[in-house]
Amino acid sequence: MVDLLRPLRINAVELLRRPGATLSVAEEILAEALGVVHERLNGEIGVAIQLDSMNDGIAVTGTVGAPWAAPCRRCLKDLSGVARVDIDERYQINTIDEEAYPIENGQLDLVPMVRELALIELDAEQVCQPGCKGLCPTCGIDLNMASCDCDNTVTDHRWSALDGLVLDE
Ligand SMILES: [Zn+2]
Ligand SMILES: [Zn+2]
Repeated sequence: MVDLLRPLRINAVELLRRPGATLSVAEEILAEALGVVHERLNGEIGVAIQLDSMNDGIAVTGTVGAPWAAPCRRCLKDLSGVARVDIDERYQINTIDEEAYPIENGQLDLVPMVRELALIELDAEQVCQPGCKGLCPTCGIDLNMASCDCDNTVTDHRWSALDGLVLDE
């Protein structure tokens, strides 16, 4: 069986031996193989990173991209895109930095980091535009497209209830 996560499991022995050496990884990873399950997910997880051998470990920089599709949380219009997050992490044999990921038996495992970042990106709430006016809570009209005569002055709490409804997964 093909190990779909193999590109993310890197033998770091040679890199560690040569500070200054670099290695690039550019892969599309099947989300299921990563264990990334999310209703917004819409394709494969893109990993584009560079590993730099340092004296105290390996610096990992680049991006993780997660394609997503979801309705605008305010007006429910269908949206899609790729959420990208910049990576700037450190892997160390002896994890001196509290934030550093471990290198175990000369292996640098990018899987936990990629999985974690992809899930964080997919959890980010999307709106169609920063000023999206959303739907009228009374008549449901799209307030970006039209206006209505509903009196919504006391419906603040209902707005948050509507948000909760949309966010509920
Ligand atoms: Zn919207
Ligand atoms: Zn209305």
